[in-house]
Amino acid sequence: MGTKGREIVGVDVKKLLKLLNKAYADEWLAYYQYWVGSKVAAGRMRGIIAEELAEHAQEELAHAELLVNRMAQLGGTPLLTPEALLKESNCGYDAPTDPDTRALLLQNIKGEQCAIETYRKLYDFVKGKDPITEKLILQILEDEVGHEEDLEAMLEDMKTPVK
Ligand code: FE
Ligand code: FE
Ligand code: MG
Repeated sequence: MGTKGREIVGVDVKKLLKLLNKAYADEWLAYYQYWVGSKVAAGRMRGIIAEELAEHAQEELAHAELLVNRMAQLGGTPLLTPEALLKESNCGYDAPTDPDTRALLLQNIKGEQCAIETYRKLYDFVKGKDPITEKLILQILEDEVGHEEDLEAMLEDMKTPVK
């Protein structure tokens, strides 16, 4: 990013980069958790749930892309190793050791709730001080709220007895 573009950022850029990298780690781990979950999914509504998990995986990857581009503008470097992703992540990685669709939904709902909390905090950090990052975070936060809603709706659908 240009000199002026960086000058208008009203927060500590180093601290912001640290927070963006942590969110970036979350996105990669969420991506893999969804992606591999969609491959191993078994049980009720397997087809439709696997499809939704795969779609969310791609959306998490797109979030990682948005974050890495913003970090580059701010002069930062993304985390470079899987070890660093695990270490820096806020929400961690929940291996889908139980492939049952209900277990997968519960696991990923937990992940989305952590993501919502993380972005809510990041939003508060940049609000009114860095409009570009603020807009980006809002966009991602909106997606995460949608993800939670999608998964909870599917969990609800599972309760409906099959006629
Ligand atoms: Fe995400
Ligand atoms: Fe999400
Ligand atoms: Mg969805």
